[in-house]
Amino acid sequence: MDCIFCKIINGDIPSRKAYEDENCYAFHDINPQSPVHILVIPKEHIASADGICAENSACVAKIFEAIPKIARDAGLTNGYRIISNCGDDACQSVKHLHFHIMGGRKLPENMG
Ligand code: AMP
Ligand code: ZN
Repeated sequence: MDCIFCKIINGDIPSRKAYEDENCYAFHDINPQSPVHILVIPKEHIASADGICAENSACVAKIFEAIPKIARDAGLTNGYRIISNCGDDACQSVKHLHFHIMGGRKLPENMG
């Protein structure tokens, strides 16, 4: 499958790893929009949040169990934002489910 995030999981494309377990992989965004900008992805390929269903939702729960640890390790002691762009109107550019963890400064109130 021609998916850059699957290639990152497989090590075919290099990345700056922030966290990994049997279920998910986290790495620093190549084009950070905040001082800390980490992407968390399931190892299983799911195209977007719109592809979450009863059969695969356990990996999403496990990602959200990992996020507090990822945030703590990244020094995000004063809060952070979790974003998942889903589909064209949200400008999702990589069609592998991912959660942006952003922080390290006061983020804008406006979410679009
Ligand atoms: P989205 O626009 O929500 O689909 O987010 C995709 C994110 O992936 C963007 O913030 C990109 O900067 C990031 N990105 C794309 N390619 C890479 C890569 N090879 N390594 C790290 N981050 C990447
Ligand atoms: Zn993928």
